[in-house]
Amino acid sequence: MANIVELKIKPDFTKHYKNKFPLILKDAITNPGTLSEEGKIVHLVDQHGQFFAKGYYGKQNKGLGWILSFNENEKIDTVFFKHKIRTAFNKRQSYYNDENTNAFRVFNGEGDGIGGLTIDYFAGYYVISWYSKGIYSFKDKVIRVLDELVDYKAIYEKKRFDTKGQYLDDDDFVKGERGEFPIIVKENGINYAVHLNDGAMVGIFLDQRGVRKAIRDKYAKGKNVLNTFSYTGAFSVAAALGGAAKTTSVDLAGRSKSKTIEQFAVNGIDYEQQDIIVMDVFDYFKYAKRKELKFDFVVLDPPSFARSKKHTFSTAKDYPALIQDTLAITEKNGIIVASTNNASFGMKKFKEFINKGFNGMKYKVLEEFSLPADFQVNRNFNQGNYLKVVVVQKLS
Ligand code: SAH
Repeated sequence: MANIVELKIKPDFTKHYKNKFPLILKDAITNPGTLSEEGKIVHLVDQHGQFFAKGYYGKQNKGLGWILSFNENEKIDTVFFKHKIRTAFNKRQSYYNDENTNAFRVFNGEGDGIGGLTIDYFAGYYVISWYSKGIYSFKDKVIRVLDELVDYKAIYEKKRFDTKGQYLDDDDFVKGERGEFPIIVKENGINYAVHLNDGAMVGIFLDQRGVRKAIRDKYAKGKNVLNTFSYTGAFSVAAALGGAAKTTSVDLAGRSKSKTIEQFAVNGIDYEQQDIIVMDVFDYFKYAKRKELKFDFVVLDPPSFARSKKHTFSTAKDYPALIQDTLAITEKNGIIVASTNNASFGMKKFKEFINKGFNGMKYKVLEEFSLPADFQVNRNFNQGNYLKVVVVQKLS
């Protein structure tokens, strides 16, 4: 036991850990100074030294690491990792067997028992995301487990730590045979071009799968669609395939244009019939208002926090204003898909933001989405259940 660090839990926080809260909170520990090297196994104990849980030290947002086990005798070794990862993969069997979808999450951090680690599957390729140096120190074990459990074309990794807000790695290849990118993955029959070795983001956010399907199958037909914060235009592609009369994609990032063209092209859609605009969304709202443009269907999926030259946008503060701007260019009976991945508030609060944005105007909630089943959540950790999507219809 000599090299195991004991972290003492403040009395106020013992309830958290008795209730199996998985994150080691900085504020919960009386002696964080004893922590030295990330990746070290730590024991959480009460003020009398009574064992609560064991985990690893790894700095990530407000946490100092994640709980791995509430059993004092469980060893954190390759067998441990194998058990967790195999259990997670087994839960995704229906995804592996789905002929129309070959891009999904196979391991979702604390939801699958190991916080700070996610693994995504893209048509034979695996992408591991490491959210701290601490979890990265277990890399050999995780790779060995993948080797034992699955066949793959290649493994790539995303080191989402010590980047000071920027993604610095220029080669994310780990092992196997290097892919030629883009690879084309399928999602409910839609093609998406994916780049696994081109920065932190690969071209598609898998957690919005259900929303894309609903847009294609239920909402898009005949509609004039505006997709704001459009990134690679994944929602626009779903809308176009669902029979939208036209889509307009707006994103500030210069490269969003070629990426969006690529997504249309791999689905055989003539991108010249679609509008792809590189612009600040807030400027676009003004432009559209001036030109008296109106849309029947608008997707709002801003980042939790964004700073452009002219605007700072925070979902927690500015969502009502975003809805208000949108309403000004939405047709009567138009539909708005309001989405956020901000973990700092829940669905109830999000609906209050939407309600505030409507400012007395009548509307109806048509449908709600949260994370899909492959993004397994830990029921003792609400923040992990971050995705909130509300489909609302303006009634006037
Ligand atoms: N809805 C997208 C994901 C959005 S990611 C999808 O489902 O694929 C957030 C995007 O917002 C990024 O591409 C970023 O470039 C863009 N963005 C951030 N601030 C913006 C702004 N003020 N105006 C337009 N785009 C912005």
